Amino acid sequence: MRLEIDPRSLAELAKALASGETSSFALTESALARIDALDSELNSFISIDREAALQDAKTADARIASGDAGPLTGIPIAHKDIFCTRNLRTSCGSRMLDDFIPPYDATVVERLRSAGAVLIGKTNMDEFAMGSSNENSFYGPCKNPWDRKRVPGGSSGGSAAAVAAGLVAAATGTDTGGSIRQPAAFCGITGLKPTYGLVSRLGMIAYASSLDQGGPMARSAEDCALLLEAMAGHDVRDSTSINRPPENYRAQLQQSLEGLRIGIPKEYFGEGLDSSVARIIEDALTEYEAMGATLQEISLPRTALSIPAYYVIAPAEASTNLSRYDGVRYGHRCNSPKDLEDLYTRSREEGFGGEVQRRILVGTYALSSGYYDAYYKKAQQVRRLIAGDFASAFESVDVIAGPTTPGVAFELGSKTSDPTAMYLEDIYTLSVNLAGLPAMSLPAGFSDGLPVGLQLIGQHFDEARLLAAAHQFQQRSDWHRQTPELELPA
Ligand code: GLN
Repeated sequence: MRLEIDPRSLAELAKALASGETSSFALTESALARIDALDSELNSFISIDREAALQDAKTADARIASGDAGPLTGIPIAHKDIFCTRNLRTSCGSRMLDDFIPPYDATVVERLRSAGAVLIGKTNMDEFAMGSSNENSFYGPCKNPWDRKRVPGGSSGGSAAAVAAGLVAAATGTDTGGSIRQPAAFCGITGLKPTYGLVSRLGMIAYASSLDQGGPMARSAEDCALLLEAMAGHDVRDSTSINRPPENYRAQLQQSLEGLRIGIPKEYFGEGLDSSVARIIEDALTEYEAMGATLQEISLPRTALSIPAYYVIAPAEASTNLSRYDGVRYGHRCNSPKDLEDLYTRSREEGFGGEVQRRILVGTYALSSGYYDAYYKKAQQVRRLIAGDFASAFESVDVIAGPTTPGVAFELGSKTSDPTAMYLEDIYTLSVNLAGLPAMSLPAGFSDGLPVGLQLIGQHFDEARLLAAAHQFQQRSDWHRQTPELELPA
């Protein structure tokens, strides 16, 4: 039997709830039923919070009945398992935190709760957000709903797959080097990585603190705008959180694209880009011209250097962030340690998977005395130059556009034995994080039945413009409305 996906946007769901056409309890029950039916196969969730979700749904229904509904009241959503959730296991995809139950909510979780969203559960991810395929999860790989032999992308693969399969209408993700945009592209959904500092990192388990940023993943730009309004905002408990007045992104979705200057980096269309992906992106750009935008070739000459710079900086930060998992305070502890040294080593060896250990080794090496200047400092200098390349490009364009990924979703297992081939997946996304810029991925077409993502990159805090550009494309196209064929398992 073919399973139909509920096509309603978040705003439409809110309307159906307000008019009494449906209830939060009914929406939550049906989300749980879909998860029961499909997720043993997809593996997009690590934890489901059935009782609490149904309870919260009842509370939401009461709020709606009393006329006290927020924009998301009663709508079931999921959080990437990197966000701390009070009284609900938060594993970060790792054996290390397999039994970790946080005593508090991440700010993002708290904010979406107060906007009324009902938390259904926690989605699968690469361990500690390190990966591009979700294959580094302690809980096993998540599958791409468009083709279950393929990866959903990573590290927020569970969130992307859950939205694409219609298990939830929206989910959160985090993006350190592409982890919202790349899985959004592979699963045919819309994802936004905000400007660094716009969304609080409090309670978001740290991977590489100067790059990590949480953001929304949903079917459309309009839905992302609504979610971002709830997620963004100053947090005194995060020292890198920016204090700016809140923005109404939805109100700006129709801002004119007439005369919008779109820069096309020539480095994003060179060697390594799949030709059918290139064609789809070119067609999308032609569509933007038809909407009144002008296209201009630009150069981001240090694009290729983003990979070595990122893969020094991110592991360096990870090696210090992950030193807190010592088997003493929380997280996995080995059985009957001989002494303190044994406790540290075995707890970490057993608790961390292979890729996490590799990054800790690389990071510790790059930070050690004698190598610090040669690797870490050098990488930071390159990072500054990459940010400078963007700054000069933005002197003559408003937005930068290109493919999100060099190809479509790849087959499970096809890159696991070659970490550098996996790292190449991030070529168009990493530099955005190094420069702290906002960027989106939105569906732009299909290559052999697999979704292709268009990436739009903006200047710092230019989320409203990106969302408007994505939204107006989505009003003229229906790529984002396509859904995978999902059969109920026999
Ligand atoms: N693939 C990149 C990495 O493995 C990015 C991951 C992310 O954005 N969390 O580090």
